[in-house]
Amino acid sequence: MLLMYKKTLHGHLEIICGSMFSGKTEELLRRLRRAQIARQKIQVFKPKIDNRFSENHVQSHNSSRILSIPVENASEILDKVENNTRVVGIDEAQFFDEEIVNVAQSLAFRGIHVLVAGLDLDFRGVPFGPMPQLLAVAEDVTKLSAVCMVCGEPASRSQRITQSVESTSNDQVVVGASDCYEARCRFCHEPETIFISNKQQVHFHTVTHEGGNEKNAH
Ligand code: ADP
Ligand code: MG
Ligand code: ZN
Repeated sequence: MLLMYKKTLHGHLEIICGSMFSGKTEELLRRLRRAQIARQKIQVFKPKIDNRFSENHVQSHNSSRILSIPVENASEILDKVENNTRVVGIDEAQFFDEEIVNVAQSLAFRGIHVLVAGLDLDFRGVPFGPMPQLLAVAEDVTKLSAVCMVCGEPASRSQRITQSVESTSNDQVVVGASDCYEARCRFCHEPETIFISNKQQVHFHTVTHEGGNEKNAH
């Protein structure tokens, strides 16, 4: 006998967070590709401000990419989600206004599987934009770590660096990749922009982190 199943859609919200280079975009792309394999219609959004690699793609530091729609603000996402979309991916969520929290929630209530990736901390190590609220209301949270470029331990922070002293900025938002940032652990991270004259010459040292935040112990 042929049984007919009527699937009920269970919308939910998943967050992927961590420092720069921790693999957030790679993980977002992996989950989106699984949805495509399951023949679910996906739509991917990112804030217009993130044009580092491409205007129309979400792209990882490893050059893996997927087509995406650039949007000016969070509510534009609601306008652009189509009726038959089952999965919505949003990258660089930290750059959105607080409205992103309502947008993510209302999509989930509509039965959509919402995947959001973003930096949990800014370059100073302070919670970034709407991320704390998103993390609080999500059903599932994945926190990834990168590799600390000073000591090789797991990195949770994004160190802002400059290779020319004149270009130092303390704005919360400076869009860039390995030219402006490197991953660092809590002990090696410094909450201001630091000058690195030649990035190629960075070597891992053996570091003992005992005794608290002793920046010059190594
Ligand atoms: P995110 O979106 O979190 O910034 P991506 O997914 O774009 O990260 O890129 C992750 C990739 O970055 C890794 O797979 C690796 O190839 C590369 N990478 C560069 N520097 C580091 C680092 N310090 N730690 C870990 N991965 C790094
Ligand atoms: Mg990314
Ligand atoms: Zn470190």
